[in-house]
Amino acid sequence: MAKKKRGHAGQGGRSAKILVLKPQTVPAGFVCSFEGCGRREYSGGLCQSHHRQSRAGQALIPVHPYHKRPEPTVKFSGMRLSPRCAERLEREARTKHLSNGALICEILELWCESHPEPEPAATHGERPSGPNRPKQG
Ligand SMILES: [Zn+2]
Repeated sequence: MAKKKRGHAGQGGRSAKILVLKPQTVPAGFVCSFEGCGRREYSGGLCQSHHRQSRAGQALIPVHPYHKRPEPTVKFSGMRLSPRCAERLEREARTKHLSNGALICEILELWCESHPEPEPAATHGERPSGPNRPKQG
């Protein structure tokens, strides 16, 4: 009979390794070579997004095409509206002694009333020619 040797429970003298993640430092001036991108270089002279496009075999396209807003917007009750619209609504709310949100509710209710739901299109117009034949006899 052989006694089973216990595996020595190693009291690890080493403490757990702490991985220190160094932030990727990109020297200034190294930017994506894609025209008009302007992002920092990630690999091969391209930014991360363009690098991914390149690796996927795609033609490089602008990552974030700029969308010019026709007009700056202002926040109004959690929404973004044109300043003109927001101003009108605020004035209306003051006149009616309503909060902005209450005014919006009122407007939406009015809209719903003036825009009734269209009748649902009849989908069962045609009778299916199936086994549902009236019994004879
Ligand atoms: Zn890029």
